[in-house]
This record gives sequence, C-alpha cells and structure tokens, in this order.
Amino acid sequence: MKKLILLLMGFQLTFVSCQSQSTSTQQKEKKVMSEEKKPALIKEGNPVYSKTDTGKVAISEDEWKKILPSDVYYVARQKGTERPWTSKFEKFDEVGTYYCAACGNALFKSDTKFESGCGWPSFYQPISKSSIIYTPDNTHGMERTEVQCGRCKAHLGHVFEDGPPPTGLRYCINGVILDFEKAKDAEKNYKEKKKEE
Ligand SMILES: [Zn+2]
Repeated sequence: MKKLILLLMGFQLTFVSCQSQSTSTQQKEKKVMSEEKKPALIKEGNPVYSKTDTGKVAISEDEWKKILPSDVYYVARQKGTERPWTSKFEKFDEVGTYYCAACGNALFKSDTKFESGCGWPSFYQPISKSSIIYTPDNTHGMERTEVQCGRCKAHLGHVFEDGPPPTGLRYCINGVILDFEKAKDAEKNYKEKKKEE
C-alpha cells in the first residue's frame, strides 16, 4: 500500500512539473510575439536613431561614417545621389510613414507620395514644416533647392516647383535615405471607412 501511495505521489509530481513547463513555454511564446509586433523605434548600431526623440542631432562626420551604412552615408553626409529607378520606394504604394534612415525623423506620409516618373520617390508635402530644412543649391550649374532632414541635416534630395496640387511642389527624394513603416491596421481601416462615407 505504501508503495502504491509513493508511486501515485511520484506520478502526481511528474504531472505537475510537466504542466508548469508547458505554461512557461506558452508565456515565452506570448512574449516573443508581442516583441515582434512593436515598431522599430531604434536602430541597432545607430545610437542617434529614434522615432520618438525630436531633439536635434549634431555629431561629427567621423561618427556618422561609423554608424551609417556606406550607401546611406554617401547620400546623407556627402550629398550623393542614388542612380534613378533603383529605389524600391520608386514604385511603392503601401500605406504608412517614411522616416529619415539616418536619424528616424518622420518626413513624409504615403498619401502625399505620387508617381512623378523622374526615377526617384516623389512627394508633394512633408509631414510638418519642421521636418525639413531648405537650402539654396547652385552646384552643377543649376539653381535648385536642397532638402535636408530637419533633425540631423542629412541630405535628402531637392524640391522643384512642378508638382501636383495642392502644393505644386515635387520633393524628389533619394530612396536610400528613407525608412518606411506600414500604418497600423487600425489606421488603414479608419481610412477605408472614411472613403465609403
Ligand atoms: Zn535625419
């Protein structure tokens, strides 16, 4: 009889330990899922990148060189231009927000993007007045207006006065300096509902 009780107790213990193990696995899975759903507010290896911090970024060119991928550094800090028709954002119509790839500053919303046919992603309006800095650019024998990120002064591209209404402006932007984040499903649903009305 004693043996049977011990045996039963042993069985119960095994059962309990199995159960607790499966619960902790479930909790772990839940945790991983919620972490994946969080938008990337920071970027690994780039200490100045933040989608929530609006403070100006002023670091040396040497530091930028260390933290930016070479193609982003070439456009952002050396005012380079990517080859036309090479950006994945050139023909891209997902709903969401475009951020500065160097510092995370919000620059454009997808509903101000349009197909200009010029070979680079084009927008007719920035997200806010302070998201962009305008500088006269007289290089290459042309009179143009350079647009830079309002937070980190990264070179983004140029703005021209041949865009569509309501602004008549065409912000011609290097795709390599843009990070895209899809709008949350809730936002999308809200817009679709508005269209139906
Ligand atoms: Zn920036």
